[in-house]
This record gives sequence, C-alpha cells and structure tokens, in this order.
Amino acid sequence: MNDNVKGLILKQQDYRENAVLLTVLTKEYGRIAFVAAGARKMTSKNAGSIMPFTLADFSFDYKEGKTIFRMKTARTVNLFRFVHENLNASLCASVIAETADLMTVEGSQPEFCEYVYDSVETSWRMLNEKKRADLILCLFLSDLLKESGIGPVVDECVLCGRKNAAVISVSDGGFLCSECADRAGLSYQTIDRLRQFRMICRADFENYDALAGNIQTAADDAEILVRFFDRHAGIEIRSFALFQRLFTIDLNS
Ligand SMILES: [Zn+2]
Repeated sequence: MNDNVKGLILKQQDYRENAVLLTVLTKEYGRIAFVAAGARKMTSKNAGSIMPFTLADFSFDYKEGKTIFRMKTARTVNLFRFVHENLNASLCASVIAETADLMTVEGSQPEFCEYVYDSVETSWRMLNEKKRADLILCLFLSDLLKESGIGPVVDECVLCGRKNAAVISVSDGGFLCSECADRAGLSYQTIDRLRQFRMICRADFENYDALAGNIQTAADDAEILVRFFDRHAGIEIRSFALFQRLFTIDLNS
C-alpha cells in the first residue's frame, strides 16, 4: 500500500538516532506526524525536502486511527523561497506554524483543519510574495480567531452593545464603551488605535492592499490578537516574542 498526501510542514524536531519528526498539516488527515528515518545523515536523499515552512508531497502507508507514520519519500511542492531568505518573513511564518500546530489538536474537526490549512498556505504564499509580515500575521491570527468563534467584538461594546468604543479589552473579548471602561477602571485608547484594530479585525486576506495603504505598523495589533489566543483559546504562542523583538528593532533603526 502506498499513500500520497500534500502537507504543510509546521515543525521539525530531532528524533531518535538520525531521524526527524515532522509535524505536518494536511487537508485529508488533519495534523499528522512523520518520522523521517536517517534524515539527519548527510547522505539522506530526503533531507532537502523536509524543511519547515514548505509544502511537500509525502508517500507513506496510511492506517486508520494512527497519527504518526513512517515517511517513505518527500518531495518539495512549494519551497516559499523568500520566506527562508528573509528574517521578518521567516519569523512570521514560524508564529503562523506554531499557532496552526497548537490549534489543530487531536480530535479537531476535519473542516476546521482544512480551514487552517488554507489560511496557513495563503499566509506563506503572501509572505513569499514579499507582503508585509506584520499585516499577514494579523490577518492570519484574526482569521483563525473568527473561525474559532472567539474573534474580537469590534462593532459595539462587548458588554452592553453601546456604539461608542473607548478601549480594547482582551479579557472581555472586544471593545468596551466609555461607561463600561470607567466601570472596569480602564483608561481610554485613541480613536486611531481603535479604528486600526477594527479595520484589521474586519479585514480578510483579499483586503491586504487596503490595509497596507492605511497602516504603518500592525505589530501592536498582532500582540493584542496573540493575547486573545492566550485568554480565549488557552494557547500561548511562544515564538511571537522573537517576532515582536525584531519588529521593535526594525522600527528604531
Ligand atoms: Zn458598554
């Protein structure tokens, strides 16, 4: 029996002697793992085809109920070359990969995994087209929050429904009006800050150009969205800290 599947490589870890363990997101089987025997040997014919943040075609023997398989061969379908050459893009791709990995746990709905697959592939493709990493990250995070039903409420006060937004409250799940902000003891944010966050939350990958023309940097928005995952999905996206640090350096140089 010989099965083939296309998958996005989210993670690569060392595994036993000279092997690597690949975490791969597929449309057909959700998130699965491949053991690539001997991949750390210089002579391995597969070593070049199993880089993280690439799309590859795998051959293996599928078995119902299993989530870890022995990889037979791998062939790169899309390398996303620029993503690997550019530090901003590659750090962004790694935050996206980590988020996708944490969100597609065992037992996730197949439809949800398929959705995440498309979102990751779109993000990596756009990064590879040299689109801005801060915006792509925001679009990806916001897309996944919305699909998970925990997207920030930005059309009205999340507590009382009034329309006068005064502050973003991560713990409450979206905008608070001035009255609710007062009650919670939160100081107001600027109209521009709120407007930009709302624009990002309402946008889709297709709205990239409009965002790029209007937003100077979305690093702060990405941070808020990362906190939404922490608070409402219970996942901590560790790789974001490095991405954020690089962005701060970029802005000051
Ligand atoms: Zn309110």
